[in-house]
Amino acid sequence: MSPEEVWAATKSQLQMQLDRASYETWVKQAEFIRFDAEEAVFVMGAPNVYVCDMLNSRLNRKIERLLSDIANQPVRARFEVARAAETTAASLVGDEMPLLKLAAPLEAHIDPPSIEELVRAPRLPDLPEGDLNERYTFERFIVSPHNQMVYQAARAVAEAPGQMYNPFLIYGGVGVGKTHLLQAIGHKARQGGKKVLYVSSEVFVSEFVSALRGGQTAMFRQRYRSVDVLLIDDVQFFMGKESTQDEFFHTYNALLQWNKQVVMASDRHPRDLNNIDERLRSRFQGGLVLDIQAPELETRQCIVKMWSEERGTQLPPDVVEAICTAVVSVRELEGLFLQIHARAALGGLRREQLEALTRRYHQPRERLTLNRIIEVTAQKSGLLVEDLIGKKRSEPVSQARQIAMYLCRELTTCSLPQIGDAFKRNHSTVVHACNKIIADMNADPMFRARVDKIRRALER
Ligand code: ADP
Ligand code: MG
Repeated sequence: MSPEEVWAATKSQLQMQLDRASYETWVKQAEFIRFDAEEAVFVMGAPNVYVCDMLNSRLNRKIERLLSDIANQPVRARFEVARAAETTAASLVGDEMPLLKLAAPLEAHIDPPSIEELVRAPRLPDLPEGDLNERYTFERFIVSPHNQMVYQAARAVAEAPGQMYNPFLIYGGVGVGKTHLLQAIGHKARQGGKKVLYVSSEVFVSEFVSALRGGQTAMFRQRYRSVDVLLIDDVQFFMGKESTQDEFFHTYNALLQWNKQVVMASDRHPRDLNNIDERLRSRFQGGLVLDIQAPELETRQCIVKMWSEERGTQLPPDVVEAICTAVVSVRELEGLFLQIHARAALGGLRREQLEALTRRYHQPRERLTLNRIIEVTAQKSGLLVEDLIGKKRSEPVSQARQIAMYLCRELTTCSLPQIGDAFKRNHSTVVHACNKIIADMNADPMFRARVDKIRRALER
């Protein structure tokens, strides 16, 4: 396989593993640029800074793992802003100016739209039905004692939007089925003739920013406020962007006022959404808030059996049990299952190969502690742990501290406040540090190499 084909294969894996909105927004337009064989780095182009940051930060690990699997050697991935990339609906955002810098001056003047403005606003073309993944239905959701309550509530909401629990917020860890349930509500409500809009908060933010830049806020509002059911995924990513939080607040109020249904998913309880405006946080808690737990072993086995029946892969029961025992996150399990399926289809899989694959998904990184990250970062920067958690503010010390904060965010599942505590600082300092490091890495390859080196030392 040529490097270009490896990237194409990785993209199709991503298409299967990510929900459609994320794939279209973040991955679809990323083009292969070159493969640096010496450093084993794949370099891809992204359409703008916003997408590029996202790919280099939150999606990077997943992409590197897939690339390495497919290339059959450990490789790294890096995204750069590709000037020539064409602009499509998913990237209305231009690329001549870093978007994130725009947030401040725009904040001041966002008023809720008047009714006239809404009425006058030109109609947007109807959304393609394809924004919901057809696999995420109630029928394909395996109910267990752990998730029964949230499942029932979701069904009730879908059958009578705006009438039962409004807003409805589902929270829980990664890969526990939040997006699946949110979209199941969407499918069901659509069958009932309702107008449904599903977006992740990131898409909401990026659409809003481009609407602002293009002078199309009226159209934006029309689009979001003319629905019967608004499904917002991953609301934790609203954090820190005040102007969009403001916009969301008004959208939210308008919909609730008109008895339209709002459903949200978050990775944590709304009271722990520390960087979200207090007004929004208390609104979120005003409706039904339910948590969804990771499915236990038996449920995971049922899920994998369902997948293998759907795809006609014969997996012996002991194999199903082995992979479900090794991998707890259903998202990871799906990745592993797809790998097994693909290899089985290519002529069978021996047990050792299966074991090797499973080991790769069995995540050692969860065991990485904040202290270990601080220790290694200090050591690699020629500093002491006390320097990083102390008060010193000299350039080398604060830079190393910011790198450590960024790596804590990237490599562990700790919350922002937990990370802040480890450095005796507050969570907004951590957010600032992460943004700074991502921007610096994009601007300076040498700096990126330095951060990557520490990351590798930690992942060893
Ligand atoms: P989250 O949004 O919570 O991170 P997802 O909804 O994306 O997780 O779920 C990850 C994968 O696991 C999806 O393919 C989803 O269909 C599947 N999944 C999770 N829980 C269940 C369940 N109870 N029944 C069937 N599939 C599930
Ligand atoms: Mg999700």
